[in-house]
Amino acid sequence: MLKEVYCPDCGGNGVLVGPIPDSVFFAGRTVEKPLKGGRLYRCSLCTLGFRWPRLDKKQLDDLYKQGDENTWSSAPTARTDWQIGRDLLKDLLSRGMSILDVGCFDGGFLEPLVDLYACNGIEIYSLAAKRAAKKGVTIIGSDFADVSGSFDCITAFDVIEHIEISRAFSR
Ligand SMILES: [Zn+2]
Repeated sequence: MLKEVYCPDCGGNGVLVGPIPDSVFFAGRTVEKPLKGGRLYRCSLCTLGFRWPRLDKKQLDDLYKQGDENTWSSAPTARTDWQIGRDLLKDLLSRGMSILDVGCFDGGFLEPLVDLYACNGIEIYSLAAKRAAKKGVTIIGSDFADVSGSFDCITAFDVIEHIEISRAFSR
């Protein structure tokens, strides 16, 4: 019998969905040593899907830092969700206000906005962060824990599913 597993977000009971096999792929590249699989659960209260056991944060951080530099790269106009986000920001923000994009990768989302707003980003993958900086994004750190200060708007695309405790992100 499997022991009880609790949602990392709200603490609700995890309902087993199925097994997650070992994998040799992570962040667009083949890793030398297979990553241990686990089980996929869905929270009975908030419906968050999560894996258990989790890889620890240091291991994940190391793996993300070694990712393929093109894995999450997109042309600024290629993503409809980015365009919707930019249109929303233009409706809500006045020129010169500040934006923080968490997990900005190479600045693809922010690039078309750098002339309108103070664009800041955090990014764990240093090569991507350097590319974002060249596009006019001020890199303020490499991890969510580095965030301080206040911003008029905070965005995050393809991030929430990668962080250790998602509820901490909303505080
Ligand atoms: Zn939950």
